[in-house]
Amino acid sequence: MSYRSGRHFLQIPGPTNVPDAVLRAMDLPTIDHRGPTFAELGERVLDKVRVVFKTEQPVIIYPASGTGAWEAALVNTLSPGDRVLMSETGHFAALWYQLAKRLGLDPELLPGDWRHGADPEAIARCLAEDEEHRIKAVCVVHNETSTGVTSRIAEVREAIDRISHPALLMVDTISSLGSIDYRHDEWGVDVTIAGSQKGLMLPPGLSFNAISQKALVAAREARLPKAYWCWDDMLGPNANGFFPYTPATNLLYGLDKALDLLLEEGLENVFARHDRHAEATRRAVRAWGLELLCADEREFSSSLTAVLVPEGENADRLRQVILDNFDMSLGAGLSKLQGRVFRIGHLGDFNDLSLMGTLAGVEMGLACAGIPHRQGGVQAAMAYLAEEAEGDQAKAREQRRIA
Ligand SMILES: *Cc1c(COP(=O)(O)O)cnc(C)c1O
Repeated sequence: MSYRSGRHFLQIPGPTNVPDAVLRAMDLPTIDHRGPTFAELGERVLDKVRVVFKTEQPVIIYPASGTGAWEAALVNTLSPGDRVLMSETGHFAALWYQLAKRLGLDPELLPGDWRHGADPEAIARCLAEDEEHRIKAVCVVHNETSTGVTSRIAEVREAIDRISHPALLMVDTISSLGSIDYRHDEWGVDVTIAGSQKGLMLPPGLSFNAISQKALVAAREARLPKAYWCWDDMLGPNANGFFPYTPATNLLYGLDKALDLLLEEGLENVFARHDRHAEATRRAVRAWGLELLCADEREFSSSLTAVLVPEGENADRLRQVILDNFDMSLGAGLSKLQGRVFRIGHLGDFNDLSLMGTLAGVEMGLACAGIPHRQGGVQAAMAYLAEEAEGDQAKAREQRRIA
């Protein structure tokens, strides 16, 4: 294809846009991963990364995609035939379930309609019936990237505690970590799974397990076969900043920088920014007269919004029109949502004007594709963002006055 002027708008919900500062930070010669320079980098990122998980516990970094970290969480803690309770929130929850089956576990998938998050009450009922404690783990996808629905992890924790059930709690935060509030320690999560290419603003290639003490104890008894994913092999050398095999050195330089950017902005500010862009997007969608896929406002995702197209219209055709005309990629509807929804990613390295460009591309695309809608979505989002900015200005003036 011939050169297209201006930056491509990558508005899929991951991989996300990588800040120039992160790209520059990775543009370094490869180093000896057994040498002292690497040890310093390793120690620094292994320590600093814990801040975004809100944990004091160890975090392991794999040179792998998120799927690898899913597998690592299960094989390190469980034994063949172990029962695992999972919630069918959407495509990614279903994939994790398939992976558990292939590993020789006995997972149960609590059915869902792909418009709601994990149901804490349904989980509580299953655990209450399990008097012999045969369920060894509860697995939840925090932010279901296929639907734009965020599950309420604190309430899932509360449900498990209410039954006093000893199952481990494992949470996939691949599309929420670094964009939506998440608390590994406070919520008593045993294994948190994350990836580099979404909220962490890095290219694909790294994934993470944050591990509780309870999970480390479970790991001593776990009998599923593991080799590459073995936590013990990692934790030993990690204590000195090293890895048991070749780490993704240049991605770790990027991670070092990306963490600095997140901490400089302040995690709570990062979350507020994502909340604001998600709200602006929903206002645009409503103004267009289109329907949000997420059915419960307590579960709206702040990292992406999935939008239903009117019955009889094809969301993939809309995405194609937008890509051809405006050089913007939007997320596709996955498996049973194919053609029914398009997904707007508003996570990672993103600001008010990148959102306005994105929404303008969607509104123009709806017109080009001849999809029935009302105009005014861009206007509604713009009015909201301006109002929020004005509010911030007034707050700053008030603070200066008091000072
Ligand atoms: C992207 C994603 C995955 C898959 O991660 P890969 O890096 O593609 O292996 C899993 N779960 C969720 C919630 C995701 O968003």
